[in-house]
Amino acid sequence: MGRRKRRVIKVFKRKLPKILACPRCGNISLIVERVSDDLVNIKCGTCHLLYSYPASKEKEYIDTYNEFIDKINSGEIKI
Ligand SMILES: [Zn+2]
Repeated sequence: MGRRKRRVIKVFKRKLPKILACPRCGNISLIVERVSDDLVNIKCGTCHLLYSYPASKEKEYIDTYNEFIDKINSGEIKI
């Protein structure tokens, strides 16, 4: 039994990608664009998907995106 040297693993905060995967065409060309304090536009540059989605301004765009994807998967949103 001895003291184990613990390796220090530095966690770098990676910047989240601004461009996301499109649930319709699968290309990495989807952006979440804030249009007002409680609304974002989810837009794809490839298949021209455009969806207005309610999201408070405190919400990270990545959370909004994840929520959006969940709703598509559950059938709540049809695109
Ligand atoms: Zn698309």
